[in-house]
Amino acid sequence: MKDRQSIFMARHESSGSLDDLLAQVRACSACEAHLPLGPRPVVQAGARARILVVGQAPGARVHASGIPWDDRSGARLREWMGIDAEHFYDPARVAIVPMGFCYPGRGPGGDLPPRPECAPLWQDRLIAQLPGIELTLLVGAHAQAHHLRRTGHVSVTRTMRNWRAHAPCVMPLPHPSPRNIAWFKANPWFDDELLPVLRQSVRKLIGG
Ligand code: SF4
Repeated sequence: MKDRQSIFMARHESSGSLDDLLAQVRACSACEAHLPLGPRPVVQAGARARILVVGQAPGARVHASGIPWDDRSGARLREWMGIDAEHFYDPARVAIVPMGFCYPGRGPGGDLPPRPECAPLWQDRLIAQLPGIELTLLVGAHAQAHHLRRTGHVSVTRTMRNWRAHAPCVMPLPHPSPRNIAWFKANPWFDDELLPVLRQSVRKLIGG
């Protein structure tokens, strides 16, 4: 019988090699008209990666550096995972495939959501080229809504309370943004119960 991760990966069709696909992504301008700073896809993937991080979209700082999770949210995510930057930025260990690859701009409430054109174009095709993934981190509302759409996902809060239904192969996480500090404080079980499981899984797969 297939486990959840096998089913999850089997949903993604394969097409072409990873290098070819990454070259296509890096040349993409499909939603250029909506991007205030223009296209600059930020993505990391190696064919042997064992952990997949699906976030939302780069912020302005990441757009400027071209380095994924190159901000305070990234520092917190690495702390949650229990790994340093050297391990995190090794594409042979960690693939970083957000729901939107380019900075979508800002609205009244902060950064805009990932461009809706991006995930249907690239997400499933890229994941199909990552056969070694054993742990998928779904970081924030957009990643969870897309990848858990067939599992009754309604909200981050409800999915987080039910995280054990997805673990250990798929781990939903709240967005590690400083804007979510109130949520972290209101949910101490996240530090006490979920993070030790996450760190153990990460250590087992890639060290740290
Ligand atoms: S956000 Fe995605 S679809 Fe839009 S230009 Fe960037 S890579 Fe292409």
